[in-house]
Amino acid sequence: MSGPDAFRAALAALDLPPEWQVEVAIRPRRRKTGIQVNPGGGVAVLIPPTAAPEQVARFVGSHRRWITEKVDTATRLAPDHAVKEFVDGEEFDLLGQRYRLQLVDASPAGAAQLPLITSDGVLSARTQRPELVRRAVIGLYRQVGLAWLRREGRQYELDGHITGLNYAVRDLGRRRWGIYEGPPKHTTTLHWAVFGLPLRLIEYVLVHEQAHATQPSRAAHGHAWKRRMYLWMPDWQHRKAELAEVGRHAWLGDPKSGVPST
Ligand SMILES: [Zn+2]
Repeated sequence: MSGPDAFRAALAALDLPPEWQVEVAIRPRRRKTGIQVNPGGGVAVLIPPTAAPEQVARFVGSHRRWITEKVDTATRLAPDHAVKEFVDGEEFDLLGQRYRLQLVDASPAGAAQLPLITSDGVLSARTQRPELVRRAVIGLYRQVGLAWLRREGRQYELDGHITGLNYAVRDLGRRRWGIYEGPPKHTTTLHWAVFGLPLRLIEYVLVHEQAHATQPSRAAHGHAWKRRMYLWMPDWQHRKAELAEVGRHAWLGDPKSGVPST
């Protein structure tokens, strides 16, 4: 027995909880054994080629408590994203307001182009295939979000002496809410789905990225960044924790029955 099997056998002898779904991965460039708990709770043991199976088993065995805690957190915070149906009455949150979807055949006379939101909580979109309604709604989030971002981002540009900053709103996938890219891009980008979160969390994502933009070349979340965060948003850590919890239920564009291929 050699390679991964030898490590699996050594770990099996530890009688670890089956829900940990322990996997072994030989990592040629590692010098020390490591343990990684993946989102959702799976455990990966990262093994350097030089390690002996009993050594690795001892290491994992001595970290049982640590793994238990990490798996617990990862399972508790596993994503559980909202899904939407593109039918009359479906609810959409945008910039802290709730809207009911209303499918219409044409734009109300004189009104701007569809889709549009009204102050009485209606999101009007043209009646068409659900996938196209979905895209139109996401387009609305991007458009409304970008206008908000440009308006609200400005105060931090002034206060933080940030010049020439660009803004963008797009899909950043399932793991990131925002990103600041340094020069030459010098751009603060927010995921369109951020704008479906409560306002205080939208603000947190914005301030987080603007704080990066004040220090384009410094360590990402170092002292200077933290100082800036406390200055601009004294309760930022609280909001960050709230985002971890609320964010995992956020609507990331998923339709109720899976994305049809088009
Ligand atoms: Zn950051």
